Amino acid sequence: MATVSIRDLEIEFGNLKVLKTLDLEIEQGEFIVLLGPSGCGKSTLLNAVAGLLDVSAGQIWIGGKNVTWEEPKDRGIGMVFQSYALYPRMTVEGNLSFGLKMAKVPKDEIDKRVARAAKILQIEPLLKRRPAELSGGQRQRVAIGRALVRDVDVFLFDEPLSNLDAKLRTELRVELKRLHQELGSTMIYVTHDQIEALTLADRVAVMNGGVIQQLASPKEIYRRPISRFVAGFVGSPS
Ligand code: ADP
Ligand code: MG
Repeated sequence: MATVSIRDLEIEFGNLKVLKTLDLEIEQGEFIVLLGPSGCGKSTLLNAVAGLLDVSAGQIWIGGKNVTWEEPKDRGIGMVFQSYALYPRMTVEGNLSFGLKMAKVPKDEIDKRVARAAKILQIEPLLKRRPAELSGGQRQRVAIGRALVRDVDVFLFDEPLSNLDAKLRTELRVELKRLHQELGSTMIYVTHDQIEALTLADRVAVMNGGVIQQLASPKEIYRRPISRFVAGFVGSPS
């Protein structure tokens, strides 16, 4: 668990200013959803927190530490992307343990963490299989497992359910909610799906054109949208 603090953050790609002086304070253990249309800067914000791109101005703090210029691996974060990106030749167990082996975590500790992640994600019977032998939902669970074994304080999710069919999406949404309650980790979750945002979030940040238009609880966003854009996007009356 850790707080995440984004202060006066600006990101530019060449002449294109994608994030414009953005501020966001996330509490320890909070589930924050970044919601907005395609191209509004959600992934850019998440990638900045992960340390996958350079910021043009501003700061990022995680757990009370300024990590703006820290390497991704030193930020105490785990990231899950939309595409599964599993190693096709390794078993599920191999996929879960690979990063830990690289980081020279002792074998018994690796086994313990893999077993725990597999239990939480209910993929114990799949440990000896390879990705090609898994369904989309099972693969995405393994992808989440790879972040889980790293024992991180903050989870970042970039549209992790977008490639799944509606039924699986609903199922995994429930699982993610349970995972959050079980782990108590801070989670930043990107989606363009209103239902996903409203059901998962403690607070929703509705983004448009590189700014956060409204930051509030799902109930508040739905009942009292601050602008026409938010009302239209969330699908609420007014
Ligand atoms: P979202 O995740 O909300 O769909 P992104 O954060 O991916 O949006 O992109 C925001 C804007 O930044 C888009 O206009 C996109 O084309 C642009 N963009 C994203 N990454 C890059 C990059 N590496 N170089 C140039 N432009 C980029
Ligand atoms: Mg994106």
